[in-house]
Amino acid sequence: MGIDKSIQLFDRAKEILPGGVSSPVRAFRAVGGQPLFIDHGQGPYLIDVDGNRYIDYVLSWGPLVLGHAHEEVVTALENALKRGTSYGAPSPLEIRLAELVQSFMPNIEMLRFVNSGTEATMSALRLARAFTKRNKIIKFEGCYHGHADMLLVQAGSGVATLGLPDSPGVPPATVQDTLVARYNDLDTVELLFNQFPGEIAAVIIEPVAGNMGVVPPVEGFLEGLRSVTQQNESLLIFDEVMTGFRVHPGGAQTLYDIKPDLTTLGKVIGGGLPVGAYGGRKDIMVQIAPSGSVYQAGTLSGNPLAMTAGITTLEVLKQPALWEKLESAVAVLVQGVGQAAQKTGIPIQQTAVGTMFSTFFTENEIKDWSTVKTCDTERFGKYFQKMLEAGIYLAPSQFEAGFMSTAHDQKIISKTIGAVDSAFQAIARG
Ligand SMILES: *Cc1c(COP(=O)(O)O)cnc(C)c1O
Repeated sequence: MGIDKSIQLFDRAKEILPGGVSSPVRAFRAVGGQPLFIDHGQGPYLIDVDGNRYIDYVLSWGPLVLGHAHEEVVTALENALKRGTSYGAPSPLEIRLAELVQSFMPNIEMLRFVNSGTEATMSALRLARAFTKRNKIIKFEGCYHGHADMLLVQAGSGVATLGLPDSPGVPPATVQDTLVARYNDLDTVELLFNQFPGEIAAVIIEPVAGNMGVVPPVEGFLEGLRSVTQQNESLLIFDEVMTGFRVHPGGAQTLYDIKPDLTTLGKVIGGGLPVGAYGGRKDIMVQIAPSGSVYQAGTLSGNPLAMTAGITTLEVLKQPALWEKLESAVAVLVQGVGQAAQKTGIPIQQTAVGTMFSTFFTENEIKDWSTVKTCDTERFGKYFQKMLEAGIYLAPSQFEAGFMSTAHDQKIISKTIGAVDSAFQAIARG
């Protein structure tokens, strides 16, 4: 089947939506070709407007850990819908989702719901700055924390550098307090703490990086961050918008047994609806208005439909053996990709933590943004296109994570590995 309808829709979309999309990576710019317009999702599949069916490893960029249109989520939403779509007043659903989140992540003593991951990180940083009465923050090269001005900072070359805005429209003054360190390199963090003693409010990190492809923390790195922040009376913020309920049901903080002061969440906790949250130590969280003076608000925050999708998703995730099934699906897939690479002699590096995984087209060990950047993105583009032709929908960039869902059964994984095998052979033939 062709993609005629997608082509027509993309032409129409480009007239009214910048780049034809509502979020940049969706436009397929990094891999060539054009985006597919989706008619619906079902279990492990995305079905485009021309009727082509793809096995989906993007899963809305992480949220759909149960796959598309999971029966229990849909039923819960149908029931919730009849009760109204927004109240602008508290509902018991917020308490239930908050308590459920806490049962997975006991470090979260209190939390506040927002509507996106972007809101969660910007609000957590406002709170951290207010709590510590300091202005500077440290982020890491290659880590993405949403599109708030102060976090849109490109990392410089060399050792840790001062931030420069990554996008026009971000005033340099907005990022002058954003310091950038190298992922998996504690020395660059210590250097900044020495350079700016008593000035750093917080260190924010993706505890398993997922926005430069999956880059796990090296042993001792997160522990080192915990102790250097503690020594300097600075807060440690784990941005678990992606890793929460993805690298482990309890997030990276449970997997690596590290206690951050604040945690930001999103993606999975909304079960496919727009939700974010930030939470952590009670003595910090009570400073948020109205119990404290740090202002942060939202017309649709705690939205009943979003809360319902989140509650149902997390309740299903509690089912025994479900996580093991997810992890073993990832293991089988990683093994299959490894074998295809070995047979064809194409150098790759694979990383996987929990339900997140990446295939990097490079021979260099992956540990930070500079090693990730050595990837052959052209080769990735070929791989992406071959996989798409075979009905496998991967993230349209080398620098994005792959995601597994509970809807991806053995048959789906085998079919995927078959396609991987053919794709690697096609690449090897040149
Ligand atoms: C996706 C993501 C965000 C931004 O979340 P949005 O809901 O897209 O605003 C922030 N941090 C991390 C780690 C993410 O993966």
